Amino acid sequence: MLNERRVSFKNGGISGMDIRELTCIRCPIGCQIKVEMENGEVKSVTGNSCPRGEEYAVSEVTHPSRIVTSLVRIKGGERPVVSVKTASDVPKEKMMDVISALKGIELTAPVHIGDVVIKDVAGCGADVVVTSDIPEGE
Ligand code: SF4
Repeated sequence: MLNERRVSFKNGGISGMDIRELTCIRCPIGCQIKVEMENGEVKSVTGNSCPRGEEYAVSEVTHPSRIVTSLVRIKGGERPVVSVKTASDVPKEKMMDVISALKGIELTAPVHIGDVVIKDVAGCGADVVVTSDIPEGE
């Protein structure tokens, strides 16, 4: 993400204009989006080809968030680890708390897609769920 800051003087005060350039990650097209902000408020969004791009850009510059993915150990399964992810986006500043909460977790096979590993992980309102089926091993 590119950032540019312009400062102008209006009515005797200082007004800060930020221009942020980002690549939309909501689909593979990857539109280049420009967001103009003034004093922390979004003034305009351009470069997006659809409304999802504007929604992404506004969210990214005001409350950036991501799905967190990881692996946890599993006992008695066909494989020693299983993939997990947050069921919804979590604030970027909470991502390391989510990863820390998963350290030391060990599940017992069998597990199924959608099984909840941790509810409301790190108090961010998202559950961590299993993303693949692991049957019991032999
Ligand atoms: S703005 Fe729309 S078309 Fe462009 S990358 Fe984002 S989702 Fe895809």
